[in-house]
Amino acid sequence: MDFTIPSEFANLRNQIAAFVEANLIPLESDKASYDDHENIALPLLEKMRAKARAEGLWCLQLSPEHGGRGLNKQAMAVCYEAMNRSIFGPVVFNSAAPDDGNMMVLEALGTRAQKERWLAPIANGDVRSAFAMTEPHPGGGSDPGMMLTRAERDGDDFVIHGHKWFITGAGEADHFILLARTSDDARRGHTAFLFHKDDPGWEITRRIPIMGPEEHGGHCELHFDGLRIPAENILLEEGRGLKVTQTRLGPARLTHCMRWLGLAKRCVEVATDYADRREGFGTRLADRESVQIKLGDLAMRIEVGRLLVMKAAWEIDQGRYAQKEISMAKIHVATLLHDAADTGIQINGARGYSKDTVLEWVYRYARQARLVDGADEVHKMLLNRHLAEQGSEFWSWDVGA
Ligand SMILES: Cc1cc2nc3c(=O)[nH]c(=O)nc-3n(C[C@H](O)[C@H](O)[C@H](O)COP(=O)(O)OP(=O)(O)OC[C@H]3O[C@@H](n4cnc5c(N)ncnc54)[C@H](O)[C@@H]3O)c2cc1C
Repeated sequence: MDFTIPSEFANLRNQIAAFVEANLIPLESDKASYDDHENIALPLLEKMRAKARAEGLWCLQLSPEHGGRGLNKQAMAVCYEAMNRSIFGPVVFNSAAPDDGNMMVLEALGTRAQKERWLAPIANGDVRSAFAMTEPHPGGGSDPGMMLTRAERDGDDFVIHGHKWFITGAGEADHFILLARTSDDARRGHTAFLFHKDDPGWEITRRIPIMGPEEHGGHCELHFDGLRIPAENILLEEGRGLKVTQTRLGPARLTHCMRWLGLAKRCVEVATDYADRREGFGTRLADRESVQIKLGDLAMRIEVGRLLVMKAAWEIDQGRYAQKEISMAKIHVATLLHDAADTGIQINGARGYSKDTVLEWVYRYARQARLVDGADEVHKMLLNRHLAEQGSEFWSWDVGA
């Protein structure tokens, strides 16, 4: 593998880094920058988005046809990491979950008409979107085979009944991708539908309170009681919902990792800054071996995470799903993010536990990383399936084969 970053992408990364440093980091320490759910306040977001757009730093992940720069996954890894040096970064560049993953799947699988209707307004920053799959017990969570939400055909329409929860961004979203059962077939029984928030027959019954800061629109519980969706709003084909899910969740898991690496680096930055200037018992913290070991360990684990992410990105860029590589990256980086925030807080002492730095924000946010888009245990179970199938070929180096 060639680890050289083409100068075009390196320049873009530098431009993003300069934008984050000049425009976003200063906002983080001002209480007025935040909404009630600890994310960037919407009027300020619009202002920052306009600025990012004017500098050509908008929706880089999409093709030029859809207003982006056509970055491949390797280039995205480089750029997304730089974006998430700030907790406000990804959403300002229109590269935050869930819109990021929703736009990528619409671009990959939507018809021309669907892209015009459902993708273009998200890519343009006019509306937000949500992806509705998870259900409370006894419905589908880690195991999509347990999904209970049903779509019954009625003429040219499908009528939806069911219950979803933890749907990120639903409170602010206009465009929804919904997974429902159209038959009991294990492999071809799920279908992905597109609907608009104003379509009748569904409602948000609750914005679920969570321990961490929230994406705009929160994490909501949805009830469907007769939502009617025309067949033309099926994404891909009837019965191909699991394929849509695979296409949506694989790259979205990886872009989570790209962003989380940026956040983990920020935790190290805040820790290093304090350790360099804080003294106790006649010694700077930075000169203590115990502190050096903590920071050295994080530096190594961040680099391991970057290698896992880059390998998975490279696999996807070769046209493969990279399921195994994405699972490994997701497990590693989710745990790393948590530990980077935890160590950052420990090195900063009481200051780390305060709201004077972003560490406590990242710490609370990081706990979800080991659950969203597949819990650690599920990814490990999947890795073991690959191991059982491939034996020692699991570690094959011929990644291009
Ligand atoms: C902040 C947040 C945002 C989210 N956003 C969305 C969204 O936008 N759209 C959406 O559809 N969903 C969303 N989710 C849901 C998320 O994808 C699910 O929480 C996740 O898939 C796990 O499903 P579950 O919560 O039903 O856990 P369950 O399936 O109930 O599993 C519970 C626990 O059991 C363990 N477990 C499960 N399977 C195995 C196994 N095979 N082996 C060993 N242990 C196992 C794991 O520890 C797991 O955490 C979000 C969740 C959170 C927390």
